[in-house]
Amino acid sequence: MFMGKRTKQVIRGTATKSTDYEFQVINPWFREHQKVEAREKLVSETSKKGRMSLYIHVPFCESKCSYCAYVSKAPTAILTDSYFVALNKEIKSFGNSLSKVQVSSLYFGGGTPTLVPTKLLETISFVHSRFSLEEGAEITVEAHPKTIPEDILVSLLTAGVNRISMGVQSFSNVILKLMRRSHTAEEAIDAAKRIRAAGFLRFNIDLIYAYPKQDIKSWMKTLEQAVALCPTGITAYRVRLGNREGNTLLRKQYENNQKEFPDEALVAEMEAKTKEILGKNGYSEGPAGWFMNEDFLPRQLPREPQVYVDRWSDQIPLIGFGVGAYSMGRLSQYQNTNRIQEYIERADASKPFALIEKGMVLTKKEAKAALDWKRGKFSGKKE
Ligand code: SF4
Repeated sequence: MFMGKRTKQVIRGTATKSTDYEFQVINPWFREHQKVEAREKLVSETSKKGRMSLYIHVPFCESKCSYCAYVSKAPTAILTDSYFVALNKEIKSFGNSLSKVQVSSLYFGGGTPTLVPTKLLETISFVHSRFSLEEGAEITVEAHPKTIPEDILVSLLTAGVNRISMGVQSFSNVILKLMRRSHTAEEAIDAAKRIRAAGFLRFNIDLIYAYPKQDIKSWMKTLEQAVALCPTGITAYRVRLGNREGNTLLRKQYENNQKEFPDEALVAEMEAKTKEILGKNGYSEGPAGWFMNEDFLPRQLPREPQVYVDRWSDQIPLIGFGVGAYSMGRLSQYQNTNRIQEYIERADASKPFALIEKGMVLTKKEAKAALDWKRGKFSGKKE
């Protein structure tokens, strides 16, 4: 799980510092020797808690966006098959110890889970067979505008998916091209309409600002277009160069020419306009750049998506499956290897620790610091 560090001081006319665009891991000082201990501690903590949140990483995308540091690759039939075999082995390896623990939210991220819909549907059903999902558990799938025709949306609904989070990033075709997104603004608008028409009660649109060559007018138009599609949530992220392990095309661009990036004054203006436009349209601010419009939510649904409550407020242990996935509880964290081939080769249900790259058991002080930060973030307080 990442958080962005922001510099609050606004200096008109200066380029932003690269640290303003960095990812930061909540506890970046993973300890190499603690993988086994971290997993054991997390399993024990999760069993006692009686509730957990699940994350499943699907590392396939049609192409690579310029800013993306997540693990993703173009799928081939062989790679996809072997990946899901490995993923199932990892899921199975938890089955017995956590089969009775109630799952409050299940999240498929990537990558583009909807690029491999058959595998996605099979995995949803496999998770149901191995774990106990609460009645009405929130099931979110991240989607790309070009991968969700009507029939796939209907199959997802039928399989119990009740929340779609669609990455759009911009409604400007110029910016989309610069970002190397493989869809147009028009395709994103059509996809949003299909999601609403299919009947998903929760629907989130992800947007990115502070992108090179993006001006305030273009960002405002993007926000207004997003609002016009009536999603229940909008996430507005400041663009990131990548994390400390993954290099992105955008990082190279930053190293070559920082001047193309919006300066701090423009970034501050974009942030102010985000709050103003979304606020004016009934969206209230939640944690980490996420905004919600309660008017679009049926009464029986909780206000915030369960996945946010689990991760930011209730401290439900998160178990992540798949390449690069993070797992974390109050007292321990670990991350799986972020190399797909290695993930596939290491997967073996009899050796559950083989997939883990690094782990960490938190001291009481570290655990308290992480908890305070999360609570502050969830209540909308800035770090
Ligand atoms: S941003 Fe999304 S669609 Fe683009 S490469 Fe990354 S995971 Fe794939």
